[in-house]
Amino acid sequence: MSTEYNGYITTERIEGATDGPLVDATVAVKDNISTEGVRTTCGSAMLEDYVPPYDATVVERLKAAGATIPGKTNMDEFGMGTTTETSAFGPTENPVAEGHVPGGSSGGSAAVVAAGDADMALGTDTGGSVRAPAAFCGVVGIKPTYGLVSRYGVVAYANSLEQVGPIAPTVEEAAQLLEVIAGPDPSDATVRDATEERGADAYDYTGAADGDVDGLDIGIPMELLDGADEQVTEVFWDAIDDLEAQGASYHEVDLECLRYAVEAYYVTAMSEASSNLARFDGVRYGQSGGYDGNWNETFARAREEGFGEEVKSRILLGTYALSAGYHDKYYKKAQDARAWIKRDINDALDDADVLASPTMPVPPMEMGESLEDPLKMYLADANTTPVNLANLPAISVPAGETGDGLPVGLQLVGPAFGEKEIIRAGSALA
Ligand code: GLN
Repeated sequence: MSTEYNGYITTERIEGATDGPLVDATVAVKDNISTEGVRTTCGSAMLEDYVPPYDATVVERLKAAGATIPGKTNMDEFGMGTTTETSAFGPTENPVAEGHVPGGSSGGSAAVVAAGDADMALGTDTGGSVRAPAAFCGVVGIKPTYGLVSRYGVVAYANSLEQVGPIAPTVEEAAQLLEVIAGPDPSDATVRDATEERGADAYDYTGAADGDVDGLDIGIPMELLDGADEQVTEVFWDAIDDLEAQGASYHEVDLECLRYAVEAYYVTAMSEASSNLARFDGVRYGQSGGYDGNWNETFARAREEGFGEEVKSRILLGTYALSAGYHDKYYKKAQDARAWIKRDINDALDDADVLASPTMPVPPMEMGESLEDPLKMYLADANTTPVNLANLPAISVPAGETGDGLPVGLQLVGPAFGEKEIIRAGSALA
């Protein structure tokens, strides 16, 4: 196994059942998903030695399906980032674009798949963390509808937004992996039964990867192309031409609300994070700060030492946004924007089968670049975050490359529990 691009944090093998649909497959798992007996760090020094006593439901399902887990993959600390550079275990490099980031926060998962060091992988997507690295590494990633996949045993960053999603070289393999992990779980009451929404064959995702886009109606929100890099836009339109040549058609959509998605996302995500990460105090979870007679100082020291810069600044901003006197000004406004985004995207999906955009408005950044300019990094999430705010499913498929050979992804967004629609459309390209 090559390791120079730093895709894995831990390479302990976990064997699955001796038969099942994934018996010949290796599936790497992002390091914020609990694995019984194998350390789960969330890319944080805080959890450097944390070994969960139980498996996440998605891990149980992988094992039951016969998969072998070759290791736990590198990630931005607690999922906070778009480049896999905020990990306490060092950054992951993009294995198909030397000197560039692999995307994030599930950068390790996409990198090990792109490098051939795992057949497939699981990531988590709070605001784009499966789709961004899939796009940057030239592989396929799916962010499922909120409530399709269990989050039991997944370390929460912003629980109203995130879902576990598959990453694979092809749409068909990603669909197969999704089929294994999806479905109700008594341990997670937010999971819905998709058959109630979509009928008895609701979970037949592999069967949906038939590449049939004849008659498919694609809506293109022009706001998501406005600020995009020119080369990315060119590759995007070529992919749309390709879908048209196969029988699809498209129309432009105006979604003013999308201009507010990044702000609404970051206020929401940081607010939820400030609450979710309170448990890492060195007593309940995390490295101890060493008790010396004063608990406040003990907690403070554990958090000062255990968390990295990005995590600390997000906890501070989230705490501020939720504090008395500011709650209405920030958090409530973000929730209003979220409701608006949800309504308007769903309306647009009444007039289109899927919505399409570039997954990322920019090609993979050079390593180091976005640590200097966090705002630029946050803005790179412009096209992915609206999908999480609206709780919808989306897929990123490889659309082509820039002139310099950097991968570009196409994002297709579907209606709630419309995974089959986006899988079908995506499989016409990859
Ligand atoms: N880049 C976004 C963030 O930093 C999304 C991360 C994610 O989906 N986990 O919050």
